[in-house]
Amino acid sequence: MTRDLPNLNVSPELLGQLMDELSTFGATAGGGLHRLTASADDGKARNWLSNKFKEYGFRSYTDSVGNMFGVLECSGPDAPILFSGSHLDSQPFGGRYDGAFGVVAALISVRTLSQWFETENIRPQYNLGVVNWTNEEGARFAPSLLGSKVFAGSLDEHEALSIQDSDGIELRTALKDIGFAGADKPPKNIAGYIEVHIEQGPALEQAGKKIGVVEGNWGTAKYQITFEGKATHTGPTPMSARIDALLPVASLILFMRKLSDETDGELLTSVGRLDIEPNSTNVVAGRVKLYAELRDIDSERLKKARDRLEEQVKALTTDGIQSTLKCVVDRPVGQFDPKLTDVIEKAAESCGYSSMRLHSVAGHDAVAISGVVPSAMIFVPSTDGLSHNENEFTADEDLLAGANVLAQALGLLATDSLS
Ligand SMILES: [Zn+2]
Repeated sequence: MTRDLPNLNVSPELLGQLMDELSTFGATAGGGLHRLTASADDGKARNWLSNKFKEYGFRSYTDSVGNMFGVLECSGPDAPILFSGSHLDSQPFGGRYDGAFGVVAALISVRTLSQWFETENIRPQYNLGVVNWTNEEGARFAPSLLGSKVFAGSLDEHEALSIQDSDGIELRTALKDIGFAGADKPPKNIAGYIEVHIEQGPALEQAGKKIGVVEGNWGTAKYQITFEGKATHTGPTPMSARIDALLPVASLILFMRKLSDETDGELLTSVGRLDIEPNSTNVVAGRVKLYAELRDIDSERLKKARDRLEEQVKALTTDGIQSTLKCVVDRPVGQFDPKLTDVIEKAAESCGYSSMRLHSVAGHDAVAISGVVPSAMIFVPSTDGLSHNENEFTADEDLLAGANVLAQALGLLATDSLS
């Protein structure tokens, strides 16, 4: 049955209140958030979400890797479920919007919709759900997108639970310690997933648009590259006898930048972390592990750059230096579900917000599950494109726009008001 859908505006007061409440768990003095996966603060944020599930009448499920699902039965126990959500974990000293806003937007949208179904006496064709994916950021436990990857079957559950943080604590122990090592299976019958997220880049702000209709994602390749030399005294060891593992690393960092410069900056490259052993001021570096990544929307160009990086690592493996190269993330350029992206665009239009289509440069849970569940994303502007930083900021009116578009999109789908 097709019906005209009114604009399902969420309450700005409730949205502000939910964001403020959630931002207290792991709040930093600098106005950001330090809420690493399965930390005590993550536990508090999860308890907060569990309580909201209870308060709003959701049935809740926690799976073995701590993914939290809340389902509101608006259409009977066997109806397919439309999910929305994101993640509650943050980067170290990160921002208060990344992930958290997507969970809050999902909560408030589902709440608003269900109240509207009730007052209008509507039985929608879907049940509605909210999800918090475990360890999206990958900051405490690598890799990122862990919970959504396990859900999608691209990461083994037991392997994921055995991953250790830098103190040797396994994810399974950390989850148990905060009371979120669940025994439930994730809900079946998931019909679709829409994630709202801050853009984390400058495109929307520069174009003066409120809503990003995310059509797909860039390709990403991440490597861990290790160079092995010989740790010796930086004093008495003659220069000719040194096998310095940092030298090829320095050269490779410049090479990565050159790969990007050759494309006028279209290919994005970076080395964000070095693990140096023994990392002492008076010891020649014996072993260095370098974390390199490349991102591009052009699959061909990305492939060529990857080949050249791999060749360069070989070329730098000389003069007693040993090397290993391991690709740890190989995410191809991807497309979201075209029907869902169309619905989001339509929802933005009927709410009266300007929108533009774009692609996500960063990885997201929606990308990780898009192979098994029809998925799409809504972006809202990030001031100065800044993210993974305590000063990350999105204006209240932009948060409201994102939540309203999500409510509208879910409403259009749930009531089949798409014609
Ligand atoms: Zn995020």
